[in-house]
Amino acid sequence: TVRTRIAPSPTGDPHVGTAYIALFNLCFARQHQGKFILRIEDTDQQRSTAESEQKIFESLRWLGLDWDEGPDVGGEFGPYRQSERGDIYGKYAQELLDKGKAFKCYRTSEELDELRRQRQLAGRSTALKPSDLYLPEEEVAKRAAANAPFVIRMLVPEHDGACVIDDLLRGKVALDWSMVDAQILLKSDGMPTYHLANVVDDHLMQITHVMRGEEWLNSAPKHKLLYEYFGWEMPVLCHLPLLRNPDKSKLSKRKNPTSINFYQRMGYFPAAMLNYLGRMGWSMPDEREKFSLEEMIANFDIQRVSLGGPVFDVEKLSWLNGLYLREDFTDEQLIAELMTWAFNSDYVKQIIPQLRPRIEVLSDIAPMASFFFSGMPKVTKADYDALGFEEADLVELFQLLVWEMDNLTTWNKDAILNTVKALADNAELKMRNYLQPVFVAISGSTSSTSVLDAMVILGPDMSRARLRFALD
Ligand code: ATP
Ligand code: GLU
Repeated sequence: TVRTRIAPSPTGDPHVGTAYIALFNLCFARQHQGKFILRIEDTDQQRSTAESEQKIFESLRWLGLDWDEGPDVGGEFGPYRQSERGDIYGKYAQELLDKGKAFKCYRTSEELDELRRQRQLAGRSTALKPSDLYLPEEEVAKRAAANAPFVIRMLVPEHDGACVIDDLLRGKVALDWSMVDAQILLKSDGMPTYHLANVVDDHLMQITHVMRGEEWLNSAPKHKLLYEYFGWEMPVLCHLPLLRNPDKSKLSKRKNPTSINFYQRMGYFPAAMLNYLGRMGWSMPDEREKFSLEEMIANFDIQRVSLGGPVFDVEKLSWLNGLYLREDFTDEQLIAELMTWAFNSDYVKQIIPQLRPRIEVLSDIAPMASFFFSGMPKVTKADYDALGFEEADLVELFQLLVWEMDNLTTWNKDAILNTVKALADNAELKMRNYLQPVFVAISGSTSSTSVLDAMVILGPDMSRARLRFALD
């Protein structure tokens, strides 16, 4: 039976690209009465967080991309979190060592830099080969005796020529062996790299079709080798085109919000999002633009994926969302949607304490609170000019703020305050002055409720989007 999977790393906000890849994997599995699996690739312990994993679950569920097996739903091939499978990878790395398909490497990072430099000087690729890394036996013994750290690397061919990869969409793809380095499989702390963990798990979880972003195509030769070394059958590979910004560059949050939560926060419908993602490189046989997940599954044909980079255009998404809004909801249903979205007491409860000191009659609330419900505030250059900042200073202020806010993993008032305070000190500005342009970016007005509280209430996705919007 067909088994597909999505294998996100929980290292940040749930990405629309993850939802897009998940959607195609789900459609393919469903169409073949197969199974769709969610596996969490959290071997990078520095960058992986439990919150990020939780957000991945929640946002994929919100979209209606349900998985048959995964860390939270179980299944017979678990555990589905790589951090819980450590001993498995160690065992398979040892198997490759025993077979002579992998070797221990005691090279230090300074030596590696030097080896790469030498290759570069000789006009060769900087992909280090086993022969580059070779150390005489006495030296290995010496370092081992001194308990020096080592990694386990895979053997790779040293000869020229091409590795031919079969891709479901591209047919035969030739990739140069010279670019394939003696990849680290097990790091010095005993944790596997993506390549080892991914191949071992796809095999043990009996994945039949690996459908992933085309950024991984260059890794396919390593994976192919690993399958050969283990004597395992390789799943069918299918590299899907990456989503792009309207200017055709790779979709990035600098140009387009990439967090699924942002779209939820904006009030897009999950069905419209899924529909739009389904149109990324794919179309219905009759080219109709509006279709449901069930219709997509019923008509799915992976061969209809076109390789030209699909553009994720928020304006088109909004247009499609408008169709859903007008065609698929009665007034009563829209009211229900609004209430789930933000017109509910949980949300309003957070806003009221902010407004209480500033209002006299209830009707004062609407104009003051509107920015808590809106998308990007309408701000003009004149609004910023009125603050008396040099334009270059403003750009720098927002750029630094956006970077810091992107790196904030806990989103609460203290964390935001500390960050903003440090930035204000650095810019040699009083907090009051520093926060003025931030006020404008977040609320669209110079006089508003506490901007830090507003950012907490609006949440990280909406706040970051507004700050970024101020940069344009
Ligand atoms: P950004 O540039 O916005 O920070 P990123 O490339 O750093 O994005 P990652 O955190 O590396 O994003 O990727 C998160 C997940 O989203 C990965 O599984 C990745 O494959 C997927 N992804 C990222 N960018 C795209 C894209 N343009 N198209 C499809 N999937 C993508
Ligand atoms: N962990 C990888 C990612 O985040 C998975 C890539 C794959 O599907 O093989 O994209």
